[in-house]
Amino acid sequence: MSYDLIVIGSGPGGYVCAIKAAQLGLKVAVVEKRATYGGTCLNIGCIPSKALLHASEMFEEVGHLDALGIKVAKPKLDLPGMLAHKDATVKSNVDGVAYLFKKNKIDGHIGTGSIAAPGKVVVTKEDGSSETLETKAIVIATGSDSAPLPGVEIDEKRIVTSTGALELPKVPAKMIVVGAGVIGLELGSVWRRLGAEVVVVEFLDRILPGMDGEVAKQFQRMLEKQGFAFKLGTKVTGVDTSGKTLKATIEPAKGGAAETIEADVVLVAIGRRPFTGGLGLETVGVELDERKRVKVDGHYQTNVPGIYAIGDVIAGPMLAHKAEDEGVAVAEILAGQAGHVNYDAIPGVVYTGPEVATVGKTEEELKAAGIAYKVGKFPFSANGRARAMLATDGFVKILSDATTDRLLGAHIVGKGAGEMIHEAVVLMEFAGSAEDLARSTHAHPTMSESIKEAALAAWFKPIHM
Ligand SMILES: Cc1cc2nc3c(=O)[nH]c(=O)nc-3n(C[C@H](O)[C@H](O)[C@H](O)COP(=O)(O)OP(=O)(O)OC[C@H]3O[C@@H](n4cnc5c(N)ncnc54)[C@H](O)[C@@H]3O)c2cc1C
Repeated sequence: MSYDLIVIGSGPGGYVCAIKAAQLGLKVAVVEKRATYGGTCLNIGCIPSKALLHASEMFEEVGHLDALGIKVAKPKLDLPGMLAHKDATVKSNVDGVAYLFKKNKIDGHIGTGSIAAPGKVVVTKEDGSSETLETKAIVIATGSDSAPLPGVEIDEKRIVTSTGALELPKVPAKMIVVGAGVIGLELGSVWRRLGAEVVVVEFLDRILPGMDGEVAKQFQRMLEKQGFAFKLGTKVTGVDTSGKTLKATIEPAKGGAAETIEADVVLVAIGRRPFTGGLGLETVGVELDERKRVKVDGHYQTNVPGIYAIGDVIAGPMLAHKAEDEGVAVAEILAGQAGHVNYDAIPGVVYTGPEVATVGKTEEELKAAGIAYKVGKFPFSANGRARAMLATDGFVKILSDATTDRLLGAHIVGKGAGEMIHEAVVLMEFAGSAEDLARSTHAHPTMSESIKEAALAAWFKPIHM
């Protein structure tokens, strides 16, 4: 069988690329080594984590309804039921991708794909049998996996990556989360809400590296109020598994006396690394960069003509929507159109309570680039809808160019921040200004009015403060 395009990997990068290419008239196949489509995101990432985050948030909220004048009995946790909700959510999403492949006449091949030569992909099935498929173009969309922590062996039972943390059969009494990034804080939130005592150990002296520093600092305080403990500027050097409880050795990142902390579960969430194993990249001579990511040009083509790469396996933020947009762009390029991704307007969301959402530049980045900027801030405590919902934690921060007023960044900590951020994303796509945002009518009463007020604050003055 000969194709116009073979995509290796069916995560959000790969499956979206395949669908877009098929919509544009290309004959497409996808090779996936997992039994189900959807990649990390749908099977063991975005989707199952959000199912557990939502369910655990409801569980916690039910216990705090008194303040709204609702009396309910103390909620009881049915953990198997909650995990079943997560599994059902995953199933409906991965089945959805299989349906979309069928609908778009995309051939799915379950097996490990390797590139024998440009235009030749070998698919090896679990039983060892293999077949060679021919194609005009190949897109590598093999994603990433969890980065290991030297000296700490993962067993996915007591010492887990995010994958094991999505299916703990019992709420741990105490959990150590290694790494204060998005995944660690999200999964730490799930288990804290369900009753675990959570200690986060982070090598750097701050949480959420890469995000706006003020946002991270205020958000850390909110998490501490919820019961999170943080050990920043600290590293885990080993975990003793010999006893009934785990004993993690920690020491200051800059060096100093070591101490031991105990836990039932250690979650290692120190980042993810690109996954290129078994692809045969050495055989065809596809170059990697210094961080072992596949190197591509502005059109997502590797140094080998006809071989492209997208998503977590190339440079850039490891986010599902970044992978999806690259999938669309490369499909358009292969169909002779002008595919493009605007890396200045990719939102990032932390789905905790409250949520954190961000797009564009942080204050630290603007300072480092020497760009003169204005800051507009508005707290949810001054927003009528937030007061009505008892959701006054957090604020909106708008960063605009001091000379042109162009919106350069938006950062939100607050309930529903992940949905609210998109008006800033769209505005940035259209190179809009803080004044544009401030003059756009926002329905009252909504949380989003705080974005308008923060934009007003950046451009001139807020009304409600
Ligand atoms: C716990 C967790 C939560 C997350 N939450 C979010 C979130 O809320 N929002 C967000 O934007 N991002 C989130 N992410 C990140 C997101 O999952 C990734 O950015 C995204 O999945 C990357 O998509 P991708 O298509 O590049 O690769 P992947 O989704 O990793 O898919 C790659 C696929 O390729 C397959 N594969 C690999 N090698 C081969 C081969 N040789 N042959 C055949 N198949 C192969 C793999 O089996 C896999 O299915 C989360 C990640 C984790 C772990």
